[in-house]
Amino acid sequence: MQSILPLPTQPIKPGTSTGQHFWQSDAAKTIDSYSPADGQLIARVNVSTRADYDRVVETAQAAFAEWRLVPAPRRGEIVRQMGEQFRRYKRELGTLVSYEMGKSLQEGLGEVQEIIDICDFAVGQSRQLYGLSMHSERPAHRMMEQWHPLGVMGIISAFNFPVAVWSWNAMLAWVCGDVCIWKPSEKTPLTALACQQIISEVLRNNEVPEGVSCIVTGGRDAGEWLARDPRVALVSATGSTRMGKAVAEAVAGRLGRSLLELGGNNAIIVSEQADLDLAIPAIVFGAVGTAGQRCTTTRRIIVQERIYDEVKSRLKHAYAQLRIGNPLDESFHVGPVIDQMAVGNYQVAVTEIKESGGKFVVEPGLIDGLGFESDCYVRPCIAEAENHWPIVQRETFAPILYLLKYTTLEDAIEQQNNVPQGLSSAIFTLNMREAERFLSGVGSDCGIANVNIGTSGAEIGGAFGGEKETGGGRESGSDAWKAYMRRQTNTINYGTTMPLAQGITFEL
Ligand code: NAD
Repeated sequence: MQSILPLPTQPIKPGTSTGQHFWQSDAAKTIDSYSPADGQLIARVNVSTRADYDRVVETAQAAFAEWRLVPAPRRGEIVRQMGEQFRRYKRELGTLVSYEMGKSLQEGLGEVQEIIDICDFAVGQSRQLYGLSMHSERPAHRMMEQWHPLGVMGIISAFNFPVAVWSWNAMLAWVCGDVCIWKPSEKTPLTALACQQIISEVLRNNEVPEGVSCIVTGGRDAGEWLARDPRVALVSATGSTRMGKAVAEAVAGRLGRSLLELGGNNAIIVSEQADLDLAIPAIVFGAVGTAGQRCTTTRRIIVQERIYDEVKSRLKHAYAQLRIGNPLDESFHVGPVIDQMAVGNYQVAVTEIKESGGKFVVEPGLIDGLGFESDCYVRPCIAEAENHWPIVQRETFAPILYLLKYTTLEDAIEQQNNVPQGLSSAIFTLNMREAERFLSGVGSDCGIANVNIGTSGAEIGGAFGGEKETGGGRESGSDAWKAYMRRQTNTINYGTTMPLAQGITFEL
């Protein structure tokens, strides 16, 4: 199959920065971006050098000094214009996301829609950066809190949501008055440069200072520069738990702030009282969407023993309908995994499942031949397993679904919670007591808990994130904006005396 994009004859130069003009990096190294859809080389992108990085941070610092003075609603207006640009380029960017990352075109377009949605949300938020006021215990005193811009923030993003995760962070950070340095995944650098290109016109037209929106390209090294750099006030890192632990340690070592969005091991409980006509499609989409490479992918289903066989056979039947192929062709349900390393991880997991005693209900396998030349296509599979097996306890970023059994709801919740991660969870039941129990303080321990919808496909309006090894961060809606600002408590004495708090007297 032909590449859908013309391959530039020279490595793409921007590499490093920002709104008004790109500067030329003299980097010697490049990242070759191959599409997992057809194995074609899409682009060669320069890797930022340490000198590029330092120049970006200095430019961002200077930009912050100006940007924080721009009134928040005006910053919101600029974000509104960015949203309009993403509406204009939705199809082009969605197609590029699908081609570079390998998710279906529908999901690629959905990812751009998330950018548009968070832009809209951030515009409203720009007029709602509210602080509280408190009644002072002292006469003629007033207390209040204000939220001020934080500074330079670093955004480290993962390959599987190559553009949406950036926007959840950047759009809110911008209305909050921060400036952003984005270090996209080395597996999807081109989509990041496309986003920068799409917003650059807005930055120029509004005379936004150079450095409000920056990109540094590269792998782990560039991420580590951000994590260790005391000039970077907040590091928002999305990726594996392994990466998150390294970032957390480095940022904590300098007492900086981090916001972590890490791996998940998400389960759906299927009660005897579930509507299976809702549950089955939700499970299948949750397990195979984005070829099992969403942080919220359904990895375990915990099924009441009396309906276990029925659920198993309905899932088997549904999986037999799945069409696997080029993600840009909308007739396919499942595309490729990101690269050969991901295929290797899938194979290792399959072997470990077998060695643990797992039985495949839907068989795994690799797909090759015409239309699958990238060698990145794997068969979504289902294995009967036990929750305590080490392989079930780990997140394998591939379309492997574990089928587990339960007797009582207590037992189901215990299994659901008994993994190191705590991102997304769901129950399918029409029984109100079961649903409420699942959502209560003694129910799911995850950051996201749903009733009668699956684990993936969150809306931007809610705070997104999870507990335990998922890292504890929250992004996107609700009051997630507070992570991007610093809180200041103010006490004002408008009286003629100087009373001390707690009734303390201090006579001179
Ligand atoms: P990854 O951890 O390999 O890489 C993520 C990013 O971190 C990349 O930009 C990478 O260059 C950078 N990085 C790697 N090591 C680093 C280090 N030591 N210091 C600083 N930066 C470092 O993850 P991936 O394979 O790109 O993405 C898949 C993982 O991301 C899965 O575990 C998935 O669950 C998780 N994820 C989580 C969320 C969420 O919101 N919780 C969202 C998307 C993906």
